[in-house]
Order: sequence, then structure tokens, then C-alpha cells
Amino acid sequence: MNKETTLKIAIQKSGRLSDDSIALLKECGIDMRNVKDRLRTVSENFPIEVFFLRDDDIPEYVEDGVADLGIVGQNVLAEKNRKVITVEALGFGKCRLSIALPKAFNYEGPSSLEGKRIATSYPVIVGEYLKKNNINASVHEISGSVEIAPGIGLADVIVDLVSSGGTLFMNGLKEAEVILDSQAVLISNQQLNDEQRNILDKLLFRIRAVKKAKKNKYVLMNAPNEKLSAIISLLPGMKSPSVLPLAKTGWSSIHSVLSEDEFWEKIEQLKNAGAEGILVVPIEKMIF
Ligand code: ATP
Ligand code: ZN
Repeated sequence: MNKETTLKIAIQKSGRLSDDSIALLKECGIDMRNVKDRLRTVSENFPIEVFFLRDDDIPEYVEDGVADLGIVGQNVLAEKNRKVITVEALGFGKCRLSIALPKAFNYEGPSSLEGKRIATSYPVIVGEYLKKNNINASVHEISGSVEIAPGIGLADVIVDLVSSGGTLFMNGLKEAEVILDSQAVLISNQQLNDEQRNILDKLLFRIRAVKKAKKNKYVLMNAPNEKLSAIISLLPGMKSPSVLPLAKTGWSSIHSVLSEDEFWEKIEQLKNAGAEGILVVPIEKMIF
């Protein structure tokens, strides 16, 4: 590999995606200095350079090749409509872009928006939504504090990002319909060369190992040997569970990996099958 090749990755400078983006790169074993200054930093142990930018600018920079990669919300990606490749969903920054309106508004589906004034920071997505549903409404773009627009008489309805709904509630609004579910994604420029592609593959390999590990737990338990086969039949493991003899004769220790989705159900089944002293440990990386 050419020594000088580094991949430039753009992440949000300061905001809801910043800490998780930095944490992900660190969990991938990428050392970074100066993340506090949030300007630009070069990793010393991985051929990557990090740019800190406003999230709205990231799709454009990646399309133009100023950055090779970026981490950005699907909401911003859909709004900006830039020619980039979505490489991987990252599982953080989850939120939804929703239609919200005053509590007294009787919402009966998209047709209730006919002739209304809609305030949003997402005019492109809202425009497409209205077109798809054949609705005529006026869209007012505002860049922040969209939730106050109905209260001050600027709009009848808003389309804004929601996670818990607390902000809407405080402003006397209710969520009527989800337009888009969003999370942070890794995006790339369309024309990476072979060396750049190689670095991206390495990064992706690490990202997937970190993501996978977060979805799984390492489980250790003890059981009398006569209960082993019943317990083992319940366990998936990466190949099969490890079984080690305990100092106490007739007993074994069983180690396995359980996925988050089936976790509680399995633990109960294992207890019923005779497992004791069950320990659950987080996994840092999982590599296949
Ligand atoms: P910037 O200064 O970089 O433009 P911003 O104010 O546009 O920042 P943030 O509020 O930090 O952006 O949100 C960044 C991204 O985080 C959003 O585009 C969205 O993908 C995601 N996000 C997750 N949860 C929420 C939420 N509850 N409200 C808003 N955005 C959220
Ligand atoms: Zn922004």
C-alpha cells in the first residue's frame, strides 16, 4: 500500500452525532489526538484523517471528494440529495422525522395537510412527501426552533426531528405521522481508488466487529454434568459452547455467546434447565 494514502473522514464537529462518531472510531482502535480542538486530526495508528464539520455540509464534501467518507444522519442525507454511497448503518443517532401539529388539530392522514402552512428545516423531504401524496400545502423553511412556529402563528403544522417527543409536548404539539426513520450512516465518495477502498474495507471490518459485539453478551454458568446436554441444546455460541470441568467433581462451567434479542428468554430457559451462577459479560469485539 502506498504510504501516503489516507482516507479523510468527515464527522460532526459538535452536536448529537459527535461523541458517538468519535467513540465508534476509538472502539475501532483508531487513536486520535486533538479531538478536543475539533478541527482536524490525523490518526497515528490507522491511515485516516478526521475532519470536524457541520453535519449539513458532510454530504456535499463527500460528493466533491473533499472528504472520502462521512458520518451523517439519514435525515440529512435524504434532504441534501447528494451523489454518495451509503456504506453502513451505524446504529446510533436514531430519531424520526415526523409531522406534528397542535393538540386540538384533528389529523386524519396526509389529506389533512391540504392548504396548510408547514414549517420545517427539511423542505426537500417535505416537498417530496407532499408530492407523493398529491397534497398542496405551503412549505416554510426555518433553520431552528421549528417547534415554536405554530405557537407564534407562523405555521399550522411542523415537520421536525423527534426522539422522545418531550419538546413537542412542551410546545403543545402532538406527533401525527412519521415521514422518515433515521440513524447515523457511514457514507463514501463514489470514486474511491483501490488503495482507498482497501482502507475502507479495513475500517468496515472493524466497525462490523464492534457493532456485532454490542448486540451480543458473553455468558458463563455452572451446572451439574447430568444437566449439560439440556443446557447445551439451548445455546448457539459461535461454534458450540465451551465446557470446562470445575474443581468440584461432577460439575462443569459452560461459556457461550447470546444475542441481545433472545437474551432474557434464554437466560430463563437456562435457569430452568439447571444452570446456576450465571454471569453475563459485555463483549468488546466479535470477529468471524
Ligand atoms: P450542526 O451544527 O452540525 O448543523 P445540528 O444542530 O444540525 O448541528 P444536531 O441537533 O446536533 O444537528 O443533530 C445532528 C443529527 O443527530 C440530526 O441530523 C439527526 O440525524 C440526529 N438526531 C438524533 N436524535 C435527534 C433528536 N432528538 N433531535 C434532533 N436530531 C437528532
Ligand atoms: Zn445541522
